[in-house]
Amino acid sequence: MSDVLVYVLHYEGAFNKNSLGAVSEGVARAAEVGGACDAVVVGGTDLSDELCRTLGRYGARRVFRAEGPEGLAQPVVDVMDRVIAEHGHRYAIFGGGLLGFEIGAGLAARRQAGVTMEVTAVRADGDELVAERPILGDSKISVSHYRGGLGIIIGRINAFEVRESGSADAEVVDVAVEYSPWSRQAEMVSRGEQRGADVDIEGADVLVAGGRGLGKAEGFELAEALAAAFGGNSAVAATRAVVDAGWYPYAAQIGQTGKTVSPKLYLAAGISGAIQHKVGMQSSENIVAINKDANAPIFEFSDLGIVGDLNKILPKLTEAIRARKAG
Ligand SMILES: Cc1cc2nc3c(=O)[nH]c(=O)nc-3n(C[C@H](O)[C@H](O)[C@H](O)COP(=O)(O)OP(=O)(O)OC[C@H]3O[C@@H](n4cnc5c(N)ncnc54)[C@H](O)[C@@H]3O)c2cc1C
Repeated sequence: MSDVLVYVLHYEGAFNKNSLGAVSEGVARAAEVGGACDAVVVGGTDLSDELCRTLGRYGARRVFRAEGPEGLAQPVVDVMDRVIAEHGHRYAIFGGGLLGFEIGAGLAARRQAGVTMEVTAVRADGDELVAERPILGDSKISVSHYRGGLGIIIGRINAFEVRESGSADAEVVDVAVEYSPWSRQAEMVSRGEQRGADVDIEGADVLVAGGRGLGKAEGFELAEALAAAFGGNSAVAATRAVVDAGWYPYAAQIGQTGKTVSPKLYLAAGISGAIQHKVGMQSSENIVAINKDANAPIFEFSDLGIVGDLNKILPKLTEAIRARKAG
């Protein structure tokens, strides 16, 4: 049997888009190896029958629903372990993101399973599924085969397209799980959207884009201060390197696998100017780049280049713009 099990995260009465992509992928790939795709959801009264059944729209056959804390990894590992032990799923697919990484790793340890992270494509090879993962700075693809037992596939965030391929409601199956003592140790204190997740970078007139040169997540405060000084329709954007590192929300990513922007002013701080980034911003009206490396590729397509340390330049620029606006 080559059935697939997918964990689906929910928040405020709606399923997470990234999880729905994983269900869509699980459904399509399971069909190629003669199986079906089921989903696992964990939560409380917010997980109504009606909501769970909607996963049938994406092709899920059954939804295993367990009562428990939502958004924490260890309880989900307990639930998935139990469902797989009873129903013999061959693969578990996750949509990625930090929670998916944590659950997938926990499940791999629990079931002695093979796990591949940052997967960008899943395909059938005979009656098996294999996972493709870019390596060496995304210059090569490594292919994971699973020897037997459970194969765990954790996607890159938003790597799997959401497809509404089903018409029937999914069957809802309640699962009673006795949680491991350690699964109850962590408690969700609060949940919310990542800062800046709602930013509309595609419509902004001024974009201050930050890259790895900002050094750490807090480095984005410099970019945010500058965008605030510009005021009006300004926003902060980011490279993939930094959103992958969790420094800034994915919604702000510019480039081949992010958004395409064409603001009046695009200001790059600590961005090297990789081709995959360039394709998302090259039609900006004015491109200004700050980089400490005079040979950084971004200078090849900038209208104005500033060679220097952004930690010194960004605050000065912010001050200058504030002064100009005040005057
Ligand atoms: C299939 C594929 C898809 C991709 N899609 C995207 C995409 O959509 N968007 C995207 O952005 N990337 C994408 N990438 C990744 C891309 O190849 C680069 O790895 C990424 O853009 C690099 O990000 P960066 O410029 O922030 O980091 P880096 O390349 O590490 O550059 C950091 C820069 O900061 C400078 N710097 C360091 N410290 C300072 C300082 N104190 N002051 C000033 N400058 C400083 C450095 O000189 C350097 O030039 C993709 C790659 C692949 C293979």
